[in-house]
Amino acid sequence: MAKTYDKVTRYSNIANGYTNLAKSKLGFSNEEIEKIARSRKAVCLSCTLREKDYCSKTKTGKAIKNFQYEGIDRVKGDTHNGCGCLIEAKIRCMNCVCPTGKW
Ligand code: SF4
Repeated sequence: MAKTYDKVTRYSNIANGYTNLAKSKLGFSNEEIEKIARSRKAVCLSCTLREKDYCSKTKTGKAIKNFQYEGIDRVKGDTHNGCGCLIEAKIRCMNCVCPTGKW
């Protein structure tokens, strides 16, 4: 099992997503990041865990592959809650992954 995902890493990732979102809104976006964000957003828009602008913490979905989420192994087929994140920020967090492994 991977090492525990610490709070500093979590807050750093949140800051990265919101910083990149702010840059995007202010017209200073990085095209590579925006390209990744558009690709991720297309997945989120058709996802059953999405609730308006958020990845709902109260909805659940099955992991579509084996992967690591915040340093913990997740197994394909297991059920997980959404992350609760603002999708526009989450998709711009370059070290973040979807809680069900969709991106
Ligand atoms: S981050 Fe993943 S689980 Fe959440 S809405 Fe997007 S695709 Fe769905």
